[in-house]
Amino acid sequence: MPVELEARIREEGEKAYPEECCGFIMGRDEGGSRFGENIMALENAREGNARRRRFRIAADEFIRAEREASAQGRDIIGIYHSHPDHPAFPSEYDRENSLPFYSYIILSVVEGRSGECKSYLLETDRSSFREEAITLSRDLN
Ligand SMILES: [Zn+2]
Repeated sequence: MPVELEARIREEGEKAYPEECCGFIMGRDEGGSRFGENIMALENAREGNARRRRFRIAADEFIRAEREASAQGRDIIGIYHSHPDHPAFPSEYDRENSLPFYSYIILSVVEGRSGECKSYLLETDRSSFREEAITLSRDLN
């Protein structure tokens, strides 16, 4: 994905700190190679303090994002969220609440500053995640 897009995810993560940010990644999937082209930042649908450790995307946001993506000629290819003061590694809660297909980008934000940013795919049997490489490009796809 373009460096600018990663920078926007970092910005969202720092802005939401100490709460988790979340949003969709829109772009293209070409035979398993994904090209992130845009993001859609979302409100974390969790209440109060729960937003520090978890995020939830409301069902109608999914529908809104699908519409928005197709209006842009794109697909939803992933979901990003931040881990305030925790590593960029999926939690058990993340595993239980994720779906195969989407790329899950997790950004670690430590003391308000964005750190590691990693992407994961859920195995089809949903038992675990495997990391996928993020390639940052200088030019827009
Ligand atoms: Zn998480």
